[in-house]
Amino acid sequence: MPTPPPLRSIAVFSGSNYGFNPDYMAGAQALGLEIAKRGIRLVYGGTDKGLMSVMADTVLAEGGEVVGIITRLLFDLGHLHRGLTRHEVTPDMRSRKTRMSESADAFIALPGGLGTFEELFEAATLTQLGEHHKGIACLNIGDFFNPVRTLLDHAVKEGFMKTEHSQMLILDNDPAALIDSLEQWQAPTVTKWIGPAA
Ligand code: AMP
Repeated sequence: MPTPPPLRSIAVFSGSNYGFNPDYMAGAQALGLEIAKRGIRLVYGGTDKGLMSVMADTVLAEGGEVVGIITRLLFDLGHLHRGLTRHEVTPDMRSRKTRMSESADAFIALPGGLGTFEELFEAATLTQLGEHHKGIACLNIGDFFNPVRTLLDHAVKEGFMKTEHSQMLILDNDPAALIDSLEQWQAPTVTKWIGPAA
């Protein structure tokens, strides 16, 4: 197998809230530290809210590069983080996701809500269809993403997904191990479709 090129930038999807358990904030900081230590550019939603801001603040405090890609609506509401290395304002959420995806070599999800899940699953769907070949990982702070693994296993068991695509999503609670896995990641070579039951 050829060695994959090193990751230069990672898009992180994460909650615009903090979550109740302080472990979520600690995990977001730990991921920020690891990203900065490796000199990887952080691409994220550009806001000063929730775990998103905790992670961005950590990377910036370590002298790292942080690019925020924010929608016009959220920008006009005053949600832009004012200390970023650089930011872009997009007309809407769809174009923002496209820009985040274009700007990143891989994706990581931190705990979050609907916005985070939607971004995570869209990135995985595009890899599954072969529109891009980028690894996707979840920082499994406090086992937050275990129900996602359970749901994907259920979809495999019921014949709606292949194991290779379910296993594509890397889950780990250690940021260094998570990024190491993304560095080594190889896209599945199987097609998405499963033949009719015999
Ligand atoms: P949620 O998990 O529902 O809090 O949504 C978080 C995701 O939706 C982030 O990864 C962002 O892309 C987007 N998002 C939600 N709220 C904001 C905000 N105030 N500023 C920027 N992006 C946001």
